[in-house]
Amino acid sequence: MQVLQSKLLLEKEITLYLKRDDLLPTIPTGNKFRKLKYNLIKAKKEGIGQLLSFGGAYSNHLYALAAAAKEYEFQAIGIIRGEEHLPLNPTLQFVVDQGMQLHYVDRSIYRQKYDPAFLAQWKEKWGNYYLIPEGGTNTLALKGSGEIITEAQQQIPSTSINYWTVACGTGGTMAGLIHGADGKGQLLGFSVLKGDFLVKEITHLLQQSSSKTYQNWQLIQDYHFGGYAKFKPALISFINAFKQTHQIALDPIYNGKHLYGLFDLIEKDYFPKGSTIVSIHTGGLQGIQGFNQRFGHLIF
Ligand SMILES: *Cc1c(COP(=O)(O)O)cnc(C)c1O
Repeated sequence: MQVLQSKLLLEKEITLYLKRDDLLPTIPTGNKFRKLKYNLIKAKKEGIGQLLSFGGAYSNHLYALAAAAKEYEFQAIGIIRGEEHLPLNPTLQFVVDQGMQLHYVDRSIYRQKYDPAFLAQWKEKWGNYYLIPEGGTNTLALKGSGEIITEAQQQIPSTSINYWTVACGTGGTMAGLIHGADGKGQLLGFSVLKGDFLVKEITHLLQQSSSKTYQNWQLIQDYHFGGYAKFKPALISFINAFKQTHQIALDPIYNGKHLYGLFDLIEKDYFPKGSTIVSIHTGGLQGIQGFNQRFGHLIF
């Protein structure tokens, strides 16, 4: 946990903590570890030695899954959307180096990946496996993500936290935080993709794992920069300036957009003076290398 200092924060009388899940002492780090944790424990308990999951070619989730599989002694299968491109990009090279077996499927098959016929066919081909959904989001992922709240509260015990903020992709981490906060404080999720489905998705995830309903959260949809993995020069400048000011790297897919949006809201007096905010740095820094390779060396 780290307090951020800047002229703007001082002027607006905002205390901003960054919960550094990018620096977790676990393998892997970041929210993808939080989401995997109880799934790995369950797979071990059930004696299943192989994990299977899905992702795109730059997936933070598969990156984390491959590292976790190696560390905790699982076999791992990654089903990749699209065709194989050689040489492998840095993300896929890493997962292969960890021992993950890759299978490429075309987009129409990928879309039907939870179809029982496919799941059974894969079991026949590769043996029994523990299925982890795309992005790692399921009920057990919410349990792991919720632990961020208790951990943060222990790290600043005498502070009352008014706001929690986080980047949202599938919404699993956000749902876990809402559940973990149990009605206390306000939670803001910054959507990194276009579209309205996330509010429904988060609500649905919460219903699956809790009998309570929560009103103390909101999805901010103004900072997706055109959609998933899309960007504009202003985002890149922000990420590079943030690194220079705070010595903290942000990935352009999730945390760059999250913190850009957060600082914009602070600038616009969204938060009352005297507020304490805890923002979750969810990691994802592995993505910077692949991003730079694709788009030119934009991020320092
Ligand atoms: C996946 C991911 C998120 C979003 O998490 P969801 O649970 O899918 O909403 C945020 N930050 C990083 C770095 C991620 O890899």
